[in-house]
Amino acid sequence: MDEKPQAETATPDYHALTADAVLEKLEASADGLPETEVARRRAEFGPNLLPSAEAEGPWKIFWRQIHNPIGWLLIGAGALALLLGKPTDALVVFGAVGINAVIGFIQEFRAGKAIDALAAMIPTAATVLRGGQAQAVSAVDLVPGDVVTLQSGDKIPADLRLLRVKNLLVEEAALTGESLPVAKRAEAVEADAPLGDRLGMAYSGTLVVQGTATGVVVAIGGATELGRINALLNQTRQLETPLTRQLAKVSSGITVAVLAVVAVLIGFGIWVKDAPVGEALMVAVSLAVAAIPEGLPAVITICLAIGVRRMADRNAVVRHLPAVETLGSTTVICSDKTGTLTRNEMTVQVAWLDGHEYRFSGIGYAPEGEISHDGRIAEPTPALFGLLRTALLCNDAVLRFEEQSWTITGDPTEAALVAAAAKGGLDAEAMRGRHPRLDVVPFESETKFMATLHRLDEGTVILLKGAPETVLERCALDAEERERILEVMDTYARQGLRVIALARKEAQGAEQIAEEAVAEGFVFAGLLGMIDPPRGEAMDAIRLCREAGITVKMITGDHPTTAEAIGRQLGLLHGEQGALRGRDLDDLDEGGFRRAALETHVFARVAPEHKLRLVEALQSEGQVVAMTGDGVNDAPALKRADIGVAMGITGTAVSKEAAKVVLMDDNFASITAAVREGRRVYDNLIKSLAFILPTNLGLACILSVAMFFFPTVTVDGVNELLMAMSPSQTLWINLIASVSLSVPLAFEVLEPDAMRRPPRAPDAPVFSRFIVTRLVIVALLMTACACALFLWEYFRIVGPEPVTAARHAYALAEAQTLCVTGITFTQIFYLLNCRSLRDSLLSLGIFSNPSIFIGIGTLLLMQGCFVYLPPLQKIFGSAPLDGWAWLTAMLAGAVVLPVISLDKWLRREARAK
Ligand code: ATP
Repeated sequence: MDEKPQAETATPDYHALTADAVLEKLEASADGLPETEVARRRAEFGPNLLPSAEAEGPWKIFWRQIHNPIGWLLIGAGALALLLGKPTDALVVFGAVGINAVIGFIQEFRAGKAIDALAAMIPTAATVLRGGQAQAVSAVDLVPGDVVTLQSGDKIPADLRLLRVKNLLVEEAALTGESLPVAKRAEAVEADAPLGDRLGMAYSGTLVVQGTATGVVVAIGGATELGRINALLNQTRQLETPLTRQLAKVSSGITVAVLAVVAVLIGFGIWVKDAPVGEALMVAVSLAVAAIPEGLPAVITICLAIGVRRMADRNAVVRHLPAVETLGSTTVICSDKTGTLTRNEMTVQVAWLDGHEYRFSGIGYAPEGEISHDGRIAEPTPALFGLLRTALLCNDAVLRFEEQSWTITGDPTEAALVAAAAKGGLDAEAMRGRHPRLDVVPFESETKFMATLHRLDEGTVILLKGAPETVLERCALDAEERERILEVMDTYARQGLRVIALARKEAQGAEQIAEEAVAEGFVFAGLLGMIDPPRGEAMDAIRLCREAGITVKMITGDHPTTAEAIGRQLGLLHGEQGALRGRDLDDLDEGGFRRAALETHVFARVAPEHKLRLVEALQSEGQVVAMTGDGVNDAPALKRADIGVAMGITGTAVSKEAAKVVLMDDNFASITAAVREGRRVYDNLIKSLAFILPTNLGLACILSVAMFFFPTVTVDGVNELLMAMSPSQTLWINLIASVSLSVPLAFEVLEPDAMRRPPRAPDAPVFSRFIVTRLVIVALLMTACACALFLWEYFRIVGPEPVTAARHAYALAEAQTLCVTGITFTQIFYLLNCRSLRDSLLSLGIFSNPSIFIGIGTLLLMQGCFVYLPPLQKIFGSAPLDGWAWLTAMLAGAVVLPVISLDKWLRREARAK
């Protein structure tokens, strides 16, 4: 063949060729490519990555920072200042709009990039045949010509021409918009068939919802159909959360309120105080600038972005930003057992057949250990050999010795069976080679069994393995025998063992497993019991959850007795409490179901559809539910839950796609860590609000008080309004002081009691009475201090009437500078109070958040520049202060510290009562 595999141009007619013709064209074989060829093709075609699609261009993000009510109000204010002949003030206002937009842009752009990077952390694995061996590789490493096997739950990693297909249903909504799954076949179709009718193809990014298949890669990366439409499926770019939405509403409210107050002030200034129109309008501009929290959007984005990053550090990757907040108000966590609460390191410990018990030594997947009977090491009897052979053949797992340890490919339950068979002297490769599989009914959580068809020495048989009840239902047994087996099973389950039953059935001449063939007529072969120890860290995490008012429920497909035993070890069940079976749930009416959902802590033998009903029942009882899941059928429950949590290691691509959070280590403790982080983020957001907003209210009050109550001064015969601050000075406070002080709050440590208080109600308003009261107290204190400082300094300097223009200008600059410095000190001292809204500063540890001191230091330095640097004096109309003035400003600012501390103490006392 002289033709090269043409993945880059993805010849569109692969679907019209037979499977063999496609393999030939790609110079590939059904056994997969040899490793050397893979390396060559990787060099030629590059990685299997989609070119990333920018969800929103940088310019659009930048424009959004300006194009909002607050942005336009500021631009209006700047234009007004310009019209009034105050170009410096106008410049400062425009500068502020620009700087704010740049800060907002950088934050949002960076947060977006960081979140994209997180999405890329979620690995997509693929199973390929290389040199005839099945291997799990990262989807990025696929090359054209690779032979990939698919099973239910997989995301198709590249464009494939299907070679063999079994009951394959693929959901192609990502590509065709059609949400109903399509049944695939391996046959060729017409060359001009539209995408949705090309049944012999499976396209990258679509999802296998049922069945299995093998296919050869015909296109990767940008050459795939998905790459062509350039749709990077990614829901994480959305930066809106319930809180930001609430704040957007607040900011529109502020804008309207500001406009109303401004109108009143202008009227009052012109008609009551007889001030020149220009002067009155300038006060209005100052007020507009003062009342708007320009720095707030930046601070919120920073808080959320830090939260997302910290969660990722703790192995919880957030795919959907609002989840950061919702996590903080989670009231119930419904968790799978296997792998999440337990280690998912299965080891077979016991086999039972024909009334005999055999014990297996050894731990983990190492196929090293012995089998003993009645305390003595024993060679496997033919019956035990038969049982282990069934366990090995009706099994997809592979054990491999890699880098000094045994690793597995496939399901841990099955891997444990392979290890157990090895202890009985059965070599997996040899046995599977000798008795190849003719057909399979794969294991599903609903059916709870797996069946395979083989030609054994004694004839064709169907081998069956699954949950004991499922297997016994299919076996011809008398009542007494059945009773005995169930008793044995119960004994093992009570010890927390996961029990698997095995059976076989003659199937003379069968080529396939017919549906009715697996329904009955099996001969029972025996039981195997395996341990799966609980995770130590899960026990601690469950305790933490209990303290935090979060209920943990275990939802498992395992047997109720096993589930109860593990539930007790984990501390989920106490006293008489027991597990409820999925079947028991089916018998309950609506009300009973809800009650059961609320009161039961362990659900066993549960099918995925129960999960969905449980989520709905809990939600209808007002709970905020986090639900874990890994299988295809868990997707509806994951979508429905407030926080769907998928498993990064064992989870199917379908479940990850449906989830809001993906656990990179499948570990329950990571959910608790994420909840903790969620509470911290929310607390810090509220702290930032509680810190920033009093300044805006305070500034607006100061300017209003000045307008309503400050005397007018006659300067050289002209009536002058006394303004405590100019517009540019209010901007200085709003942007420089507020932002440099509030950003460090985003880094604030977790409050000592954050995981000891009940979850926050999701509909609780951001502005609780408590926050509003705090806001008003601080704003009033700030107003009193600033006004007092200004009046005292101005009249001290200006002296008795008549006032000359020069003396007025000098006194005004001094007094305004002192006023601004006083406000800055109020902010600094109030910041210390905001580190915890309820607890005293000391309880957090004074130095537990060093960034606070960096923020304060930076601000003092900048305030020094504001006061002393001539260029800044020119822009902001500031003047140098002497030591006494600094001291006075500091003392006035410090007033807030004891007042708020007293308020906190009184509230704590009231709460303690
Ligand atoms: P969880 O929902 O906590 O992850 P689980 O993994 O125990 O629960 P399933 O995987 O649905 O739940 O398994 C249910 C039962 O099916 C198990 O108790 C076991 O008896 C049986 N089983 C599990 N895996 C297999 C398998 N690969 N083949 C046959 N039977 C299995």
